[in-house]
Amino acid sequence: MTTNGVSIPPERARAAQEIATVLTPGRRVVLTTHVNADGDGVGSEIGLWHLLRARGVTATIANPTGIPERFDFLVPDGADASDRAVREIERADVIVVLDIGDLGRLGDLGHAVRQRAAPTVCIDHHVSPGSLPAGPRLVAPEATATAELVFDLASALGWPLNPESARALYVGILTDTGGFRFSNTSARALRVAAALLERGVDPEGIYETVYASAPEGRIRLTAEVLQTLVVEPEAGLAWVTVPPDALERHAATADDLDGIVEFPRSIAGVRLALLFRQIANGRIKVSFRSMGAVDVADLAHQFGGGGHKKAAGGSFEGAMGEGEPKVLAAARAYLRDHGERRAAKR
Ligand code: 5GP
Ligand code: MN
Repeated sequence: MTTNGVSIPPERARAAQEIATVLTPGRRVVLTTHVNADGDGVGSEIGLWHLLRARGVTATIANPTGIPERFDFLVPDGADASDRAVREIERADVIVVLDIGDLGRLGDLGHAVRQRAAPTVCIDHHVSPGSLPAGPRLVAPEATATAELVFDLASALGWPLNPESARALYVGILTDTGGFRFSNTSARALRVAAALLERGVDPEGIYETVYASAPEGRIRLTAEVLQTLVVEPEAGLAWVTVPPDALERHAATADDLDGIVEFPRSIAGVRLALLFRQIANGRIKVSFRSMGAVDVADLAHQFGGGGHKKAAGGSFEGAMGEGEPKVLAAARAYLRDHGERRAAKR
């Protein structure tokens, strides 16, 4: 099946049909994504929101944490009810979970989603243990971004892509590929992006809003985090650590840290880059990024996390003083044990 100039795999088309059976007018549909929503989480849910609205389906966005300011330009008036997310979930007839496949990453909403036990649609591109309540699934780990799957949903169902929806989905693909640079930049993702441009997306305007409208604090925070850089050239390892209270001092949010880990990753010879930060409840959050064949999803699993081969994350209980050395020891061991394969691939 080919629509919008992109062919849709049959299993995705089938999944789309199943999803369509629950997304019908009259039902209260609630859309949600993971804590600290990124461009793909937000872009996917807003893209879907517009598609549903055009079909007369009322949807509400209810995320576990607020939508980062840099994506405010996408959010339609009145669509975001994240400040009363639990209440929205408790009243939902259908819940659509985007860009994650398990309850754990839904933060405080995980409990409410399980309790509600409404049909729970999942649209996602992670390899996931699938701990969500039952419902139709459009899950494809080989997809570049969840936004690509929302595009497939619309295409398979013949739902016209309105310009607002196209713009939001473009943001999802743009940000999850690091601006069409990462290894997940597939030919198909570029075809989808092309179809979105044909719906009137303005790439320069989006670039400016998403990447070139930073508050001063984001740049000062970046400077401070980069001061902590440690490189171990012989191991191919580099890491940075967010200093205590740095976010508060620069009036920044977790979203302002997005992309900083690309700096240690960009050093010649580095195959594994890490970013550490202390988060609430005495936990440490680690971002893992790799170059070449190092599988960081595998490494992140050791710390209760997950993600993709070259971009993963996790959080665990502990203070930085003890937690950071543990992760670094595991990272060095991982690089040692997976040395040959990596050397051969590069
Ligand atoms: P980031 O390091 O930018 O927060 O996340 C990179 C990727 O790692 C995300 O796209 C997501 O797939 C995954 N990820 C981040 N944090 C966690 C986590 O706490 N648990 C799991 N399972 N995956 C995570
Ligand atoms: Mn994603």
